[in-house]
Amino acid sequence: PGGGGSKAKEEKIVVTVRLRPLNRKEQLAKDQVAWECVDEQTIAYKPSPQERSAQPASFSFDKVFGPTCVTESVYEDGVKNIALSALMGINATIFAYGQTSSGKTYTMRGITEKAVQDIYNHIKNTPERDFTIRMSGLEIYNENVRDLLNSESGRSLKLLDDPEKGTVVEKLVEETASDDTHLRQLISVCEAQRQVGETALNDTSSRSHQIIRLTIQSTLHENSDCARSFVASLNFVDLAGSERASQTHADGTRLREGCHINLSLMTLTTVIRKLSVGKRSGHIPYRDSKLTRILQHSLGGNARTAIICTLSPALTHVEQSRNTLYFAIRAK
Ligand code: ADP
Ligand code: MG
Repeated sequence: PGGGGSKAKEEKIVVTVRLRPLNRKEQLAKDQVAWECVDEQTIAYKPSPQERSAQPASFSFDKVFGPTCVTESVYEDGVKNIALSALMGINATIFAYGQTSSGKTYTMRGITEKAVQDIYNHIKNTPERDFTIRMSGLEIYNENVRDLLNSESGRSLKLLDDPEKGTVVEKLVEETASDDTHLRQLISVCEAQRQVGETALNDTSSRSHQIIRLTIQSTLHENSDCARSFVASLNFVDLAGSERASQTHADGTRLREGCHINLSLMTLTTVIRKLSVGKRSGHIPYRDSKLTRILQHSLGGNARTAIICTLSPALTHVEQSRNTLYFAIRAK
């Protein structure tokens, strides 16, 4: 108890859950709240335990954020240490995982903004180092990779294997941010570009993954003979709706509607599960999807990961919420 903060300091994978408030539509429809945060680490199914005796009633994680929690707390307690390790040369990835409309984009935007603030504060307070920050943005839709900084790029960039850098996205635009304002501008270009795709093709945001990647490089500028240089990527990943990760409900029955499985999302869940098991998990299928190929070096090995699982509180979404919590448990 109370040790959550220090534990999150070193852990490779930190999994948190964020429960959003009921939205207007759910309120108007008189939907019920099905979940409550019983303490800082536990979320519980509200209806009486007898009602669903076959299902577990509560779930525990590194941290659980309730409907009144602001994004700043989600960042401070679940992301900050991991994001800032990218300043010390450790690759880091922050994911938002959850069903469509559970709050992934809302959470990721706020988290990215907090991280940008913190990164530039760190730079200001570290005058002995010279920093360069490069930024790129891409979207994966139906296993096609699109450049969010280059609207001319068309819908499918190739992935290449570079002997030194690993998987690289061919022709992906990478901009050097001159300062924090410029970096924010670049990020909003990517967001606007993602929305262009959305109106062109129905429903893309629930099917596509967005990655904002910062590559942070720094060198010590005094004593150049012992200069230690760092380079690492920090990835902000807004995933496709998790309803596309599985064809089945939590109880094993098939989904009613024809819900297309998303290869990248399914592969990512396998990769994360295997990474959380550790060394004995055997082959890790990074190469089975575009998303996991692109993120390979920011997931395994010398890398840290934060997964924020977003949850709708609504009773009508209870099965998808359960699926999200099962994913979250297996990711630990
Ligand atoms: P997703 O990206 O998972 O589909 P969104 O981030 O678009 O979901 O969120 C759906 C709606 O709920 C949006 O209108 C968003 O502003 C709102 N929302 C999401 N999370 C929260 C939250 N924690 N507090 C208040 N509103 C939220
Ligand atoms: Mg979204």
